[in-house]
This record gives sequence, structure tokens and C-alpha cells, in this order.
Amino acid sequence: MADSRITRLADGLVVQAGSGVFDVPADLGMIVCTIRGRSRLGRDASRSLRGLSDHALVPVVGDRTLVTIFDRETGVIEAILPRHNRFSRKVAGRRHDERIIAANIDQVVVVFAAAEPSVRETALTRYLAVAEHSGVPAVVCINKTDLVPRGSLEQVAGAYESLGYAVILASTRTQKGIGELTALLMNKISVVVGPSGVGKSLLLNAVQPGLGLAVGDVSKSTGKGKHTTTSSRLYPLDSGGFVADTAGMREFGFWDIPEDELTWCFREMGPFLGRCRFADCTHVTEPGCAIRGAVSEGAISENRYRHCFRLRVEG
Ligand code: GDP
Ligand code: ZN
Repeated sequence: MADSRITRLADGLVVQAGSGVFDVPADLGMIVCTIRGRSRLGRDASRSLRGLSDHALVPVVGDRTLVTIFDRETGVIEAILPRHNRFSRKVAGRRHDERIIAANIDQVVVVFAAAEPSVRETALTRYLAVAEHSGVPAVVCINKTDLVPRGSLEQVAGAYESLGYAVILASTRTQKGIGELTALLMNKISVVVGPSGVGKSLLLNAVQPGLGLAVGDVSKSTGKGKHTTTSSRLYPLDSGGFVADTAGMREFGFWDIPEDELTWCFREMGPFLGRCRFADCTHVTEPGCAIRGAVSEGAISENRYRHCFRLRVEG
């Protein structure tokens, strides 16, 4: 017998994921979903049918899904629509095991502070490289500009702008850059990352009171370095869009980039890759190295070249 209360959602956004339960907003309110049991197909069958690894079959926040809604409140996720990017972290202890924690992220906002603590460029570079590797556009935000003299950040901001990254100079004390940040987050799904103490919570609170506290709460309550599934959430913005948070996202910078892919994560190096005299050039001492040639001609900055190799050594 057909049940008229059964409806479908063609493009349901997963806003909360954890412990086999997924929240998907619909016009009438939040739908609490489970996933269609894999037992119907069998694990191996579903894996080979879709050519995906097992965890790719489990929805994560940011996933667009097909949902069958039963009684206006509960539903079943029938399928995950193709992901256009994914945010991962490595599973603790297992070097090459990846856990997807969010999908279809529009941008990552990398926050550092002008002082207390001051910008660590190797760390900033690492966040940017991981964003490139994940296929997620990145924006740089330098907070606490009230602590340094005017104009002292122009050089560092200019360096990242010339690579094509937008740079927001901000201060939660003076409200500088808050309008710019608010506009940037509007109607997008964003992840805000950066070392602790740089002012991420206060920046989010400046954009929307309570938001930074909510995001911070989840990070604090879910604990660090756990192997177990952690809940992740997309927090809605009043102006449209979402800010994503999960304990795993704080480890974002620590996702290993395979060594042979690292140089590709430095966008300005792309045009020179494959042009070295030796196909297996490590760009350190070999003659005819196109990357070092570009550094000496100023097309690649010494700084970025150095950071690239520091990441290669330090991982
Ligand atoms: P989070 O760990 O990145 O979330 O950082 P918080 O938002 O908790 O802020 C860390 C510290 O930096 C707090 O003591 C804030 O008062 C301070 N702080 C945040 N934003 C600014 C700013 O724009 N200027 C100054 N001087 N201090 C700030
Ligand atoms: Zn080379």
C-alpha cells in the first residue's frame, strides 16, 4: 500500500554526521536519517559495484544525498551524490589510512595571528599545501593586526596574494576585516583552521554571535586523537552558508601529502614540473633543475622553495 507520507529529497545536505545517524534539513524541518543497510547488497558487492573504498559509502558532512523521508522526521539516505572534493585526516597510527571527514567544502579559511603567536610561515604553507592537495580553495586570514604597526604585514600579505590567495587582514579588537570575512563566508561551506590562540573563535563570534562558541564547544568536547568516530557538524550562518567543525578538522594540517605529490601542492611550481633534465629530479642538487632555475630567476620565491623542502623533510 502506497504511503502518501513518504516523500523524497533529491539533494539533501548532510549537516551532522556521527554514530550512524545523519541530520539532513528539509523544508519542514530536520530529518534524522540512517543509511540503507549495506547487508542488502553485501559489503563486497556494494564495494565493487561503486568502485569505492568502504568508508566512501558512509555519508559525511557536506555530502549531497538522496533521501527517502518517512514521516516528516525520519528518513533513509539512499545514495551519496558524487563528491567534488573531500577533506580527510589520516587514521591515527596507520600512515596511509584516510578517513574522510567532510565533502564538498567550498573553502578553507587559514587563520594566523600577526602576533601572540606570530605567523609561522612553514605552518601556513603546510595548511595551504594540504588545501591544494584536497582540492579545496584556501583563503588566508591574519588576525590581531591591532598588535602590530600599520603596514608591517604588507609584505607577507603581498607574497600570498601574488600566489593567488585572497588575504584578509583582521582584528576582533578593532573589527577590521570582519565585514570582509562575513562576505566571504556567505552562502558557502567553509572550514576555519589554524593554530590555537590565533582568534578563530572570536572571529566567528564577530561574524555571528555564538557561532565561535558553538564551534569551539564541539572541538573541546570530542577530544583529541581518538580512533573512534567523532561527530562533525555544519553550523548554519544567519547570512547563508555553513561553517564546518569536527575534532578531525583540527588535525587538517597533518594529513600526509605523498612526497612525490608535494611540489604539485605549490601552485607556482606547476608550470616548471616535468621540465628538469632528469625525470626523477628531486630539485635539490641535480644539474638542469627547472625548479631551482625558477627560484634563481625569481619566478618561485626562495621562501616557498625552502618551506617546500622543510615539509618534505618534516612531513
Ligand atoms: P582560537 O584558539 O583560535 O579559537 O582563539 P580565541 O578566539 O580563543 O582567542 C585566543 C586569544 O586571542 C584570546 O585571548 C583573545 O582575546 C585573543 N584575541 C583574539 N582576537 C584578537 C585580536 O584581534 N586582537 C588581539 N589583540 N587579541 C585577540
Ligand atoms: Zn628539478
